[in-house]
Formats: sequence, C-alpha cells, structure tokens
Amino acid sequence: MQRIVYADNAATTRLSEKAFEAMKPYFCEYFGNASSLYKLGGQSQKAVDNARMLIAQCINAPQPNNIYFTSGGSESDNWAIKGAAELGERKGKKHIISSKFEHHAVLHTLEYLEKHGFEVTLLDVHENGLVRPDELEKAIRDDTALVTIMFANNEIGTIQPIKELAEIAHRHNVVFHTDAVQAVGTVPIDVQDLGVDMLSMSSHKFHGPKGMGALYVRKGIRLPNLIHGGGQERGLRAGTENTAGIVGMSIALKESVENMAERNARLEKMRDRLIEELLKIERSRINGDRINRLPGNVNMCFEGIEGESLLLMLDLQGISASSGSACTSGSLDPSHVLLSIGLPHEIAHGSLRLTFSDENNEEDIDYILSKVPQIVERLRKMSPLWEKIVKESK
Ligand SMILES: *Cc1c(COP(=O)(O)O)cnc(C)c1O
Repeated sequence: MQRIVYADNAATTRLSEKAFEAMKPYFCEYFGNASSLYKLGGQSQKAVDNARMLIAQCINAPQPNNIYFTSGGSESDNWAIKGAAELGERKGKKHIISSKFEHHAVLHTLEYLEKHGFEVTLLDVHENGLVRPDELEKAIRDDTALVTIMFANNEIGTIQPIKELAEIAHRHNVVFHTDAVQAVGTVPIDVQDLGVDMLSMSSHKFHGPKGMGALYVRKGIRLPNLIHGGGQERGLRAGTENTAGIVGMSIALKESVENMAERNARLEKMRDRLIEELLKIERSRINGDRINRLPGNVNMCFEGIEGESLLLMLDLQGISASSGSACTSGSLDPSHVLLSIGLPHEIAHGSLRLTFSDENNEEDIDYILSKVPQIVERLRKMSPLWEKIVKESK
C-alpha cells in the first residue's frame, strides 16, 4: 500500500481526537442556545465560559473577557485592523504600518482601507524574511493609527521579533496587532509579556475545528462593533455562539500547548534533517531564516522547475504539500511572500512548502527524501528552463 504523508499543516490540520470527542455532546445533546435562561442553555453558556477561560490561560491573557470568538483568522484580522482604523480615524490618524509578506487577510484589508483614504506603509522583510525594528521606528508618523505585523509567516515560517516591535509602537502611542495564526498552539505565546494590544488566532491551524477563531483584545482598547445584532461577545460580535466549535477549539489549543516543548524538539530535528538533505540537490535553496523559523516549516526552491508540477507528482506519490499559501494556489502568479524576500519570478515558481505537525514522524521525512530528489531530476530533464540554466553556467 502506498504511504500517505500529509505535509501541509500550515494550510490546515486534522481535528484532534480529544477535541472531536469534547465537541460531540454539543450537537445533539447540549444543543441549547447559550443565551437562553433554562438549564439546557446554561449548559452551553458554561461550556463557552470554560472554553474562553482555557484559551485565555493558554496565551496568558489577564481575563477570559479579553478573548472574543470569531469565525477564524481572517475574521479576527479584519476586525482588528478595520476596528483600529476606525479608532484612529476618530483622532484624525489615517496611516497604517504593516509588512510586505502578510497573509492576504491582512493585505487585502489594508487595500480596502486605502480605498477609504488610509495610507499604508509596508515594511521590507529582507532576504531572511524578517522585519527590522529600526525600520519600523522610522516609518512611524504622528498620524499612524496601527502597526500590524504577523507573528510567524505562513509560507516561509519566519518568526518576527514581536515583543520588540510592539514596544516601539507603544513608545509612539500606536496600537499594535499581530496575526499570530501560525504561531498560536505552535510556539509559546504570552500576550502580556509580548505587550501586544490585539492578537488573531485560528482554531484549524492547531488541530481544532475549521470556521473557528478568536481575537485577543487588551483591556482599554475599545474595539468597534463587528457584527450588529444580539448581545453575544459583549455585544461586539453578534450571533448565536458556535458552542461545539468553541469547545473544540479550546481543547485543541490546550492539547497543543501541553505537549509543545517535546513536540517542537522532535519537529525541529525532522525539519533540520530534511532541509540539510534537500539542500544537497544542486541549485536548491532554503527560503526564510534558518533559526527564527517555525519548528515544522520547510520551504525550498529548486531552480528550473515549476512548483505546480512538483506538487502534482508528489501527490501521485501520496505526499500532500504546497507551493505557498492555499489561497494563492490555483493562480500562476508566484507567491508574494517569495517575491518579498527578493526571489526572482522564475525561481519563486519552483518552490515547495512542507509543513509538519505532531502527526508526522521520521519515516515521513525518509519517504519525502526518497521522492523529492528524483522528481526534481525528472522534471528538470523535461524543462527548457533548466537546459538554459545549465548552458549558461558552463
Ligand atoms: C490561515 C491563516 C489565516 C486565515 O485563517 P482562517 O481561519 O483560515 O480564516 C490568516 N493568517 C495566517 C497567517 C494564516 O496562516
């Protein structure tokens, strides 16, 4: 039987067994509306309260009511950014700073705000995929309303110096938000130590159910209403609570945080071995910083091939991988992340992202290593681009 290797955990993860079990009673048994006054509703309300407390604890938020449930990372990002923009606008501040390689949930929200009179500065992320704190400091103006910088990049896995960046923003009285969707449940997060004002997370990136997320909002930030309606989420985000989803998210996060240290040591070993072996392929390169990088992220480029062909051939071998973010695949434009770290178009096209979770093991790495080099070689044999590269290098 063919081996199946799921190596696209940055796109989404499998729901954890524990989370699934914890969710089940909230579909047919405890189905009450959390806002209802009878016992059945109370059981749902209690489950939502418990989950909020658990999630607050997992990121060291001071209070459960710093946590607002949303439908996912995209919604959390939209709310934080549009909300902070509205707060800024009331004070005549219409400038926002972000980085060039944010997720589209951030970049497209910023484009929308530009159409509504905001000015946006996107910081460079340089060759290693890291924002430079001094460049943030220089970009801040009197009318800057918000700095939003992602915690960890979803394609190349680089981890930003968020604490330092938040400090700089605060020194200038600017609100700081981070899209931590790739980081929560993966690396330790302490919102008080980091000093961030708002932080986005998404349940399906840490083995929770899809369509669930949360936004951490520090006390004192009076975020405008996102969805008008009932009084849920302290009146700011109306709509009957997704009780099962909320419960599943909290259990998955608790599980991810509990076995983090042991898991990451294992993942880093797997990651480093895979990178080292794949770098033996001629004209290959690793994208993003080698050290400040998520434990389960490998992102490589192989010159002279198309990432899409590589993915299709890996799929035939049972390996699910990606050439970038799920949102850009299907389009032929190379990833904006790879372009932002200075890769030329033709190299950015030959990219491969492999992302691992607790469910992967060393045998998966062995299997990938038994397939990738031979597929790259086969594709290069058919590639006019590779022929040209070889000729030119002679
Ligand atoms: C997946 C992802 C998102 C979007 O989260 P959804 O829950 O799928 O909406 C946002 N930002 C980053 C960095 C992501 O990886």
